[in-house]
Amino acid sequence: MAKDYYATLGVSKSASADDIKKAFRKLAQQHHPDKKGGDEAKFKEVTEAYATLGDEKKRKQYDLYGQDGPTGAGPGAGGYGGGFDWSQFTGGFGQGGVEFDLNDLFGDAFGGGRRSAAKARGRDISVDITLSFKESILGAKKEVSIAKVSACDTCAGSGAKPGTAFDECKTCKGSGRITEMRRTVFGQFSNTRVCDTCDGAGKIPKETCATCSGRGVMRKEEAITFTIPAGIENGETLRVPGKGEAMKGGAAGDLYVQVRVKPHAVFRKEGHNLAMDLSLKLSDALLGTTVSVTTIDDKEIEVKVPPLTEPLQVLRIKEKGVPVRGGRGDLFINVAVAMPKKLSAKAKKAIEELKEEGV
Ligand code: ZN
Repeated sequence: MAKDYYATLGVSKSASADDIKKAFRKLAQQHHPDKKGGDEAKFKEVTEAYATLGDEKKRKQYDLYGQDGPTGAGPGAGGYGGGFDWSQFTGGFGQGGVEFDLNDLFGDAFGGGRRSAAKARGRDISVDITLSFKESILGAKKEVSIAKVSACDTCAGSGAKPGTAFDECKTCKGSGRITEMRRTVFGQFSNTRVCDTCDGAGKIPKETCATCSGRGVMRKEEAITFTIPAGIENGETLRVPGKGEAMKGGAAGDLYVQVRVKPHAVFRKEGHNLAMDLSLKLSDALLGTTVSVTTIDDKEIEVKVPPLTEPLQVLRIKEKGVPVRGGRGDLFINVAVAMPKKLSAKAKKAIEELKEEGV
């Protein structure tokens, strides 16, 4: 049965050249074999259909005589159906009178999607960690235990029995890479990838590691220690390079630590500074006093409150805040003045005397 090229491209018999081109581009992108979910058979079908319908002359003939051409002959006799000659397109569509922008089609297929030979690396992994406020301000050393794909302890990731000799990999002849020419309807493309026989090592151990059966990696629980820098914020992500999943013949991925910080009962972080509230008795605010404050490093300090300190006044204690490169932020004490809950007769008398003085 003859193929219906119009149905293949999903266009009507009266479709304009532009519509046909658009339909082809969309389908070719969708089915391109280098793309995830691509389908080579479908890709060939739509390309074959477009090779005819995209060419004004061929389309006319097709409309008149159908797929087998004017003579009704089979493959190789002037038809363009079952005997579709792919080799005639290796030089690019331009020669066939069909203009086509390669970058349109190969933009994503050849751009970001491919894993190049040089960039093979293990998966990144992510872990959540909750810090006390004090740890987030002063920094800390932390350890997490993660079940992940790690390098085998016995062979350190090589997959070889320790001390064994190696043969050169026959598949890649020791280079660790395989370069293939891919012939497509748009021309030739070279594609280099990691050799899957030796996983890029270029050599094959005479004896494989018994612990990992030669895989070089194994899933296991691994304790990972890392340093939390001073002053990290709630919601920040810390990257620990090389502590993701291991990969034979490639670099390990990274570990991403998602940081949560528990709020503190006293302190708040304001950039490089810390802030806290201090409630003063009315008499202390008027006459001044000394209060004892425990800093974030658990040190007791004496803070002088000057006489006639106003509500909402901020006392600044130098260098008791967040450690920063070469120094430290400050501690701000936000003063509140608490009114007495009730006044005794004596207190009332004293305040009445103040009032007479105009205070
Ligand atoms: Zn091993």
